Amino acid sequence: MNIAFFGGTFDPVHRGHTAVAESAAKRFQLGRVLFVPAELPPHKQQQSFTPFSHRMAMVALACQGHISFVPSDIEAQLYAETGKPNYSLETVRRLKKQLKKADKLYFLIGIDAFLGIAKWHRPVDLLRECEFIVANRPGYSLSDIAGALPTELRPKSEVLKAARKSSSALAATGGVMAFPGVTLHLLEDVSEKVSSTQLRAAAASSGKRLEGYVGAPVAEYIRKTRLYRAGKQS
Ligand code: ATP
Repeated sequence: MNIAFFGGTFDPVHRGHTAVAESAAKRFQLGRVLFVPAELPPHKQQQSFTPFSHRMAMVALACQGHISFVPSDIEAQLYAETGKPNYSLETVRRLKKQLKKADKLYFLIGIDAFLGIAKWHRPVDLLRECEFIVANRPGYSLSDIAGALPTELRPKSEVLKAARKSSSALAATGGVMAFPGVTLHLLEDVSEKVSSTQLRAAAASSGKRLEGYVGAPVAEYIRKTRLYRAGKQS
């Protein structure tokens, strides 16, 4: 079975996330898309964010009705075991141990997050651990992704320049970029202009409808728990 790991802060999960997962599920025949809310994401420890239990509950609601969408608390399990924030590399390795031989794991990620990958913990090892599916996001260009690779994997500057200049260069590869031991699949048909930041701002002002950003069950959860209202974070 093809399975995707889709990690994020999901504070909260929104229509952009589900659109990415739907598109990837269709194109890569994914039997499962694991939505994995991060417990204390290493790069966001300076910010205050909503407790894991709320983010997880909203992810579970967003997964309802999608046969292949599965909420996963693997990050929280690892955190409970080690007592420290864990990196995607550890989570992916743990997940792979739980899979069957015939299963194939993909790493699903939006382009904005991918552009920072060189700064992640052991990015080359992570990129070699599984194939990546990089989703488009309004305001970004998929032609920038090769330049975001860690130095060891980055193509020569002439190649990068050519890729940036011509979007047809991407089309010519069939949306796949391969480097020794690393494969990136580009998901170009997603274009959801929504972010958790926007949603939190909308939820903070009373009376604003949230349904444009999230499905009805998540909107109802946010309203009932008064999450994001006037600096409330619990
Ligand atoms: P915030 O606004 O708080 O930074 P976010 O909307 O970017 O949050 P995250 O939970 O940080 O949401 O994102 C999880 C994953 O989903 C990341 O890989 C991110 O790139 C991707 N993603 C989020 N929103 C979109 C979107 N609208 N289109 C494509 N990918 C997205």
